[in-house]
Amino acid sequence: MQKQNCVLVLDKNKEPLMPCHPARARQLLKKGRAAVFRRHPFTIILKDREGGETQPLELKIDPGAKVTGLPLVAEFPRGREVLWAAELHHRGEQVREALHRRRGYRRFRRYRKTRYREPRFSNRGRPEGWLPPSLESRVANILTWGKRLCRWSPVTAVSVELAKFDTQKFQHPEISGIEYQQGELSGYEVREYLLEKYGRRCAYCGKEDVPLEVDHVVPKSRGGTDRVSNLTLACRECNRAKGNRLLQEWLEDLKKSRRAVDRKRAENIPKVLSLLKEPLKGAAFINATRYALVERLKALGLPVFTATAAQTKYNRARQGYPKAHWIDAACVGETGESVRLDPGMQALKITARGHGSRRVQNVDRYGFPRGEPKRVRRFMGFATGDLVKAVIPTGKYAGVHVGRVAIRSRPGFRLNGFDVHPKHLRLLQRADGYEYDWVKGGSGVSSPRPEGRGPRRRVI
Ligand SMILES: [Zn+2]
Repeated sequence: MQKQNCVLVLDKNKEPLMPCHPARARQLLKKGRAAVFRRHPFTIILKDREGGETQPLELKIDPGAKVTGLPLVAEFPRGREVLWAAELHHRGEQVREALHRRRGYRRFRRYRKTRYREPRFSNRGRPEGWLPPSLESRVANILTWGKRLCRWSPVTAVSVELAKFDTQKFQHPEISGIEYQQGELSGYEVREYLLEKYGRRCAYCGKEDVPLEVDHVVPKSRGGTDRVSNLTLACRECNRAKGNRLLQEWLEDLKKSRRAVDRKRAENIPKVLSLLKEPLKGAAFINATRYALVERLKALGLPVFTATAAQTKYNRARQGYPKAHWIDAACVGETGESVRLDPGMQALKITARGHGSRRVQNVDRYGFPRGEPKRVRRFMGFATGDLVKAVIPTGKYAGVHVGRVAIRSRPGFRLNGFDVHPKHLRLLQRADGYEYDWVKGGSGVSSPRPEGRGPRRRVI
């Protein structure tokens, strides 16, 4: 049986308890000992329990440009286990486009209305820690879910993937004696660093999409060290061709050759030499958004641990898990070294949809008002974006429909592309700016389902 997300549990005072198995939640609901607190993420509230034993629970975050993985990992005496996972889809691109459009309207309006005004240019400032709105929206999304999950589950720590690799590690001489060939973590970090520095291609001939080897610029046999300032990436042929020569010696030999490859190599060698001397730009590899996120997560009052992407990749590869946003997140940090999870588990897909537009009136492409001004948002207890269930007894659309309702100006109740009479509607969950679904096909690898069972019911 494919593993399902656990159900989040609250006690009667709305204090979080350990998430429980869906079967257990079903039992409790059936016996009337619990009630549904929230549909998405599915959360129940116990009617008679007050407090209870909890185990350490870690919220792990792998922030991405488009998708962020958010698993809850429990630490049981038998080991670490993913209890619940979600993938949060951001709307950075929509935010960017909306602002771009707004800027266009404003520019045109100013041009029409204040044509003879002196230009103003020094009246704008940005506060400390300002982020572009599209990035701010990502940080806010993650923070919202961090806070929510802390409210609905007994989270005791947070781990975030912060940087691509830990440049600090390379600068300590005792760690720079790296066993990068043996697949040690520090070696993994160095490899990731070199891949980034040399653009994932052979530093000498520039070939891409070939297996790359770590090359000692000054060969070890001639006294070269393992420090990153003596390492570069080369394809097998270049590495072999160079042999144990110094770069200068090799360059002399290459100049005599007439082969196209050798000419290319000779061209690239000066570039390699200058890149080697470049200092490690530690801060440059820490993304501003992630840094801001970590700073704000600290305000939750929980210990926040940071990790590197290289470590995540290393942990995931060593445990043989496929790539998925929530699996990557589960492998973040030192606690990601051994985590039990079912790659076929269905994670919750949370898509940020925003709270509608603030614009009072739609405009045409020249910025002139068109159509009806915005009037109704809430009508007969329903608001645009509410998750509703419609049971329509007769007619063309007879049947059960679930979706987010849209209130239109007539007012009409639009659900999944058609109008529904409000008497058929039942509210499932208030609009909270997010849409919920399951991540399709888990990680792409599904665990086999036992025979004789029908298609799995989608619980909404
Ligand atoms: Zn090469």
